[in-house]
Parts: sequence; C-alpha cells; structure tokens
Amino acid sequence: MLVVQKFGGSSVGDAEKIKNVAQRVYETKQNGHEVVVVVSAMGDTTDELIALARTLTSNAAERDMDMLLSTGEQVSVALLVIALKDLGCNAVGLTGAQAGIRTDGKYGKAKIVDVDPRRLKAELARDQVVVVAGFQGITEEGEINTLGRGGSDTTAVALAVALKADLCEIYTDVDGVYTADPRVVPDARKLDMVSYDEMLELASLGAVVLHPRAVELAKLYNMSLVVRSSFNKEPGTEIKEVGSMERAAVVSGVAYDANVAKIGLFDVYDRPGIASIIFEALAKENINVDMIIQGATRNGKQDIAFTVSRDDLSKALKVVSAIQPEVGAKGYTHDEGLAKVSIVGAGMVSHPGVAAAMFKALAREQVNIEMISTSEIKVSCVVALEDLHKAVKVCHEEFKLDENEK
Ligand code: ADP
Ligand code: ASP
Ligand code: MG
Repeated sequence: MLVVQKFGGSSVGDAEKIKNVAQRVYETKQNGHEVVVVVSAMGDTTDELIALARTLTSNAAERDMDMLLSTGEQVSVALLVIALKDLGCNAVGLTGAQAGIRTDGKYGKAKIVDVDPRRLKAELARDQVVVVAGFQGITEEGEINTLGRGGSDTTAVALAVALKADLCEIYTDVDGVYTADPRVVPDARKLDMVSYDEMLELASLGAVVLHPRAVELAKLYNMSLVVRSSFNKEPGTEIKEVGSMERAAVVSGVAYDANVAKIGLFDVYDRPGIASIIFEALAKENINVDMIIQGATRNGKQDIAFTVSRDDLSKALKVVSAIQPEVGAKGYTHDEGLAKVSIVGAGMVSHPGVAAAMFKALAREQVNIEMISTSEIKVSCVVALEDLHKAVKVCHEEFKLDENEK
C-alpha cells in the first residue's frame, strides 16, 4: 500500500514529538508500505515568523513573507529525516519545489496547479521514506509560494492524488473530526465518518482541523482521507462519499470563524453594474468576499454590506475608498470585531425549521445576529466576536450534538 501521512505543527512541536512521529512513520514502513510524509512547521513557528516580520514593518511584501514562512516547514523536514535515519530508516527530505509541487503565483494563498511526481516516484523506488515540506510550492518562474494557513493538509492530499496513493492520513492533536471544536465545546462528540460535502462546508466555515482545499481535492479524486491523532492509535474519522442522503443527520456539526470583518457602504446608486464595480475591484486585489447583503432601495439609493477576513480588512478599505465616488456612496463604515457561527448537515435540505431553531437558540442567549446566509446544507450567522463561544455552545446544545448517533 502507498500511504501519505501528514503531521501538523503540534505533532512535530519539539524533539520528543519528532521522535514519536519518526517511530510511527518507521512502523508503517516496516509493515511493508510505501510512505510519503508531509510535515508542517514546528508548533507555533508560522505565527512566530509572522510576528517577527511585524516587528520590522506592518506592510512586508507578500513575496518576502512567503520566502520567510516557507522556512518553517523545511526545518521540520530536515529534523524528521535526521530522526528517521537515527532509527535506521532510509529517508530523504524534499522542499515543495523539489517534490514537483507547482503553484499559481498567488503569494500567501497559492493554489497547487500541478504535481510532477517523477522525483517522488524515483525516491520511493529507491526504498526511501520521502519527507516533503507542506504548505509550499513553486511557480513556473521559480518563485516560492505558500498555500494559506493550514495548507499542509492540501499538500498531503495533492501528493496522494498525484501518486495515486491508497490512503491519505492527517495526523493532528485531536482524535478526529468532532461535532464542534473540542476546545470550545468540551462535550463535542467524535464522528466516525463525515461525508466529503459536510466536511467541505465545516472546513470552509472555519473548522481548522482540515484545510478546505484538501477536502475539495479529496472529493474530486475520491481519495480516502482519515483524520487521527498523532498521540494514540484510535481509528479517527473517515471522510468519504456517503451513499444515502436519507440517512444523513439534520445537523452534523458546528463550525466557527473568529476572523470576520464587515464593511458597509451607504447610499450607493441602485442601478445595474454597481455591485460588479465593487466586487471586481476587491477580486482584483485578491480579497475573498464572504457574505453580501443589499438593503432595500429608497430614492434610487441603497446600502451594501459585506464581510471579509480581518486580515484583508485594511486592503479592502483602501479599495472601497478608491471606488466610493464611482458608486455614489455617501460613506462607509467597518466593524472588525465579528465572528461567524455555522451549523452544517446534509439532512437539513429535507427538514424545514432548522434555521429558525438556530435563531431561536441564539435569541434565548441574547446573541444578536448581524448577518445571515444559508445554503442547502448550512446556516451561518455573523455575531459579535465576544458572543462567539456562547453562540457555538448554544447551537451545539440546541441540536443535541453530544447525543446524536449517526
Ligand atoms: P495541525 O497543527 O495538526 O494542522 P490544527 O490546529 O490545524 O492542527 O487543527 C487541529 C485543531 O482543530 C484541533 O486542536 C481543534 O482545536 C481544531 N478544531 C476545530 N474544529 C474542529 C472539529 N470540528 N473537530 C476537531 N477539531 C477541530
Ligand atoms: N505552517 C502553516 C500554518 O501554520 C501550514 C500548516 O500548518 O498547515 O498555517
Ligand atoms: Mg492544520
């Protein structure tokens, strides 16, 4: 069997933990499997590197940030290879570029466009364990890109797909995917299995246990994906195609995003083309817009509000200020202290009243809802950041997620 195993930052946080990972990888190899390992930067290294750059300037160039952040993963690669060889295991470490990971050039949030697996295959044929730096790739012009926070998961799935691996295992500091972040909801329950679609929603809505693009890729190529703990041998959570929608839980999980900012534009012209001016200008600056709300029209004018990630707020405000005259806006405001709580479940589509139950539960706890968005399998509410944990807990309680059996 060919297995890709990914170990996150907390799993390689210090020398002891790296030894533990080396031991696990070596065991897999000794059991007769071919192994490709993807590692993240040690512990909080990525955050520390960002903080270090901020001590120098508040507006470092994106290219320079990617040069800096990609070093974290390389440290882990080198140390894990050293630990593996110390156990007597043949191993070779590769950067993203050396592993053939080609990216699209969008610094800080690059997408993998292609993986050339020749080097990986050659090393596997030499009976090596191949250890690859997660979260990074290289453009056709030879520029280093990073994939966005949490992107090592995507590296792992992309390599698994390119190598036609039998399995991709994501090792982390929790036993699997839970009904909510177990750090926020202590009685969250581990799920044995989650469908690709539900996992994609949970991850996109903030459940950092998996990077959304990793789930998207796994679904696209039907790659078997498992999330499990680096620190025990429990079976973890399988992410896979689920046969019957009929059996699906109404609500499977709660996710949150604590990194939300809102911008509101007042009195913009109510005529064709206005939304396209605003959102094209934001897209050009590579800013992802999440929710959009248009208010009612009065006297040919209306309000438009939208959310972006807090990291993109200052960039977005610059864009808004530049297009303000063109769209006729009288003014604009922003609020950076927001968060989003979401419920996800494939069974929602056939159960009316799920959104209403969520709103009622939030109201009971005096949590004010600022914005709402729904799809067939999720409901999201923007709330004040200070209400977030309360909101997550009350949603988890409302849908009895601690007791639901799938
Ligand atoms: P790694 O360093 O291994 O990539 P992450 O911190 O990125 O680890 O992801 C694991 C964390 O995800 C857990 O410690 C947990 O707090 C958080 N998390 C958020 N939502 C969930 C969820 N639904 N199930 C499990 N963990 C979750
Ligand atoms: N080290 C990167 C981060 O902290 C990538 C990852 O861990 O997946 O976001
Ligand atoms: Mg992660």
